[in-house]
Amino acid sequence: MSRPTSDTLEEKLRKRCQDRCKARCCRYITISLPAPRQKADFDEISWFLAHENISVYVEGRRWHVEVRNRCKYLTRQNRCRIYNNRPDVCREYDIESCEYPDRPAHTLHFDTRDEFDAWWARKRARERRRRKRRTHEAKQ
Ligand code: SF4
Ligand code: SF4
Repeated sequence: MSRPTSDTLEEKLRKRCQDRCKARCCRYITISLPAPRQKADFDEISWFLAHENISVYVEGRRWHVEVRNRCKYLTRQNRCRIYNNRPDVCREYDIESCEYPDRPAHTLHFDTRDEFDAWWARKRARERRRRKRRTHEAKQ
């Protein structure tokens, strides 16, 4: 079988975007967050997650908040209404290396406040144990 030309490959990818994926990447925005350090930072993330359509994830060491909200320029046919004038962030998205149908593998991912609070409680418990161990070692 001959290798698809770049045109047919692009057409195939666009079809996948429109028909199968239904333009998932046009249905959310992400905003990077400073990594939480203090109680107030963790509490703020917990508050973000108390809202609908919000997730928080960590990629490597970078924290992000994901807001699931459809782009105003996405048509009912899952096409971009301003394709020739779309923002750079959309142009730079590499559809050939898109992981669809898999979701990106994140180091950490929280969809709910309960998930985050449980992780945060475990983290604090680990830190308490570490501090206790260090204090104990310092006394010996
Ligand atoms: S680039 Fe990937 S996530 Fe975006 S619409 Fe196409 S298949 Fe879906
Ligand atoms: S501007 Fe177009 S390509 Fe960019 S998110 Fe909106 S619909 Fe998608």
